[in-house]
Order: sequence, then structure tokens, then C-alpha cells
Amino acid sequence: MVGRAVRKAVDGKMGGSAHPGAPVAAAIGLDVGGGAVKAGAVLLDGRGRLMPTLTEVRVSHHLEADGSGLSALCVHTARQLFQALEASWPGVPVPWGVSAAAWIDPRNGTAVFSPHLMGWRQRPLPHDLGAALSEATGLPAAAQTAARASRGTVPLPAVVNDADAAAWAEARLGDSGIPPADPGLVDRPDRMVMVAIGTGIGGALVQDGVVDVGAHGMAGEFGHMTVDPSGLPCPCGNTGCWELLVSAEALAARAGRPSARPVLDDALRGDPRAVRAVQETGRWLGRGLATLAAVLDPSRFVIGGGVGVAGDLLLEPARAELARHIPGGRRRPIPSVMVASLGNRAGWLGAAGVALERAGWSVRGAAASGQ
Ligand SMILES: [Zn+2]
Repeated sequence: MVGRAVRKAVDGKMGGSAHPGAPVAAAIGLDVGGGAVKAGAVLLDGRGRLMPTLTEVRVSHHLEADGSGLSALCVHTARQLFQALEASWPGVPVPWGVSAAAWIDPRNGTAVFSPHLMGWRQRPLPHDLGAALSEATGLPAAAQTAARASRGTVPLPAVVNDADAAAWAEARLGDSGIPPADPGLVDRPDRMVMVAIGTGIGGALVQDGVVDVGAHGMAGEFGHMTVDPSGLPCPCGNTGCWELLVSAEALAARAGRPSARPVLDDALRGDPRAVRAVQETGRWLGRGLATLAAVLDPSRFVIGGGVGVAGDLLLEPARAELARHIPGGRRRPIPSVMVASLGNRAGWLGAAGVALERAGWSVRGAAASGQ
């Protein structure tokens, strides 16, 4: 049961789509943010290609202090998807993953800290959520995330940081990703840095399709890198942090508007003031990318988040500034700067994909649409 504090608003159909042949596995992904749970399911075919099969379920939630309502909501949503998959493909193994806006300890999936998901702090999420789903479905809990040899049991979920999950999905499944046709055949290393611009800046580093979470699960916190030493003080204690200069709020302030959405709409229509605000944001984006390039030497940057929808209006000034400030610019390849393609599906797709990999399947890319 979902607690009464939880307002459920399912929009989107729970329908299966046509898929050639029987899948070797399925997976469920949940993306738990500060205000909603987005979820969906994928099928994995015998060639390692992923295909989304159940449309997303979005549910808004309240954040109880103890996190019980949020956990119940996740379990409720996962159970719906489990049952829908079981009805269409009985016996298919279903690992599941949860992407959370939290610092996740890579050793055990515990949410060490989260500014938004207070009730999930210091909780052993894989154990708690796995046990709750087992109880909800009546199936025995598996002792580990691996679902490959455990049909008829509920595995523990893979719990992943949301930026890491989104980066996994963009790197593997996105338009800017490794060509899905043959991800194993890339002839040079692929090193992707994802920068997600929203209320702040989130990020992740992906080497050849594998997310590098760092020694403590905290790699990719690019937002608090100092980009303008003479800039404004940041709540984090530093000055001129990148996310003060490049965020939805910074963009809105530059255009004198209360929020970023109308600025983006006006800019895409050609309004000069809005265009200038987006371009200036793009220049600061490029300054930060140059610093990241100096440290990380990526082959490409993928820009996601709400502000990323400005596309080339934002990215052209960013590319120019990156080329101007990257160390050794004339004598080195300049990383490409592309926009993310999966939108707000990236989080749950990434959670599902990581869950499949941790359960022992290899995921080689997205199934071509229309296949
Ligand atoms: Zn800061």
C-alpha cells in the first residue's frame, strides 16, 4: 500500500510494445528525484540490445522524514512493472535499479548523503528496498543483485547516483553515444564527460561506457569548481562556483526573468535579450569545460539537464570558449560538445541498464527504433 501522504498521478500507459523474439532478460529502472519518481522497463535481446518496453510512470511524492513513504512508492511502482513484465514474459529474469539524487557509497549502495531525500540518508537502500519488494510480491528475496540464476526471486536493486545513471544511459544509448551498432568495435578510447545543467550542475565521467564514480562515489561534482575567483559567494563556502554562473537560475537572472523556462522559449524564438542571456551562459559553460578538459582530457562533452534544450544557441559560444581556453588548444584535439538526447528518461534507463550489467548481462547498446 502506498501511504496516504503520497499523491499518485500515473500519466502514461502501462502497455507492452511489440518486440521481436523472446527477451533474454528484462529490467526495471526507477529514477527518484526531489519531486517525482520516474520509472520504466526495458527488454534485453539476445544480441545485447536494450529496448524500452513499458512507458514511464511518474508519481509525485512527499518526502516524509523517515523516507518510508518514498520507499513504499518505489516498491509500489516496481511491483506494478514487475507484474506487467511477468504477465507478458513469464519467468524472464528482472533485475532492477534505482537512480537517486544522493551520494551513494559504491561499496554497498547506502545513501550516504542527499540534500533532498532526507529520509534515505544513511540507509542501506538495496537491502531495505529489496526486502520490501519481496514482501509486496510474495516472492523470496535473492541474497544479491544478480538475478541471472534466480528466477522466481526478487533481487536486491542496484542503487546508483542519478547523474551517474543518466551518464551511463547517454553514453550507451543516446544519440551522442557509442554507435549502438557495434559498441565493442570503437577503435579509440571513448571518454565522455556529462554535464547536466538544472538548478545546479551535476556531472559524471564515463570511460568506454563504464561510469567512473571515483574512490568514494563522489566523482563528477563539477558544480562547485571555482570558475570566476572574483565571482559571487556560494552556499558551499567557495566563491564563483561554476553552477552560480551556469544554471537555470543564473540564466533567468541574466534575462531578468523569474525562471529559466520562458528565457529558453524566448531565446529559441530569437528574442535578443534572451539570446544574449543564453549566449553568456554558454560562454561560462565553455570556461568550465576548458578546465574540465585540462584535468580529464575527454573525447566529448554531453550537455544535459533542462538548460541543455537551448541546443546550439548555448553550445556554440561554449565550444568557442572551450577552444579559446583549453590548454594547448592549437596543438591538441578539442573535445566535441553535444547535447544529451534522452531527456528525463536517462535516469531510469541508466538505472535499468546498470542493474542488468551488475546481474551479469552485457549491454551493447540500444535496439534500433522500429526494429
Ligand atoms: Zn559552490
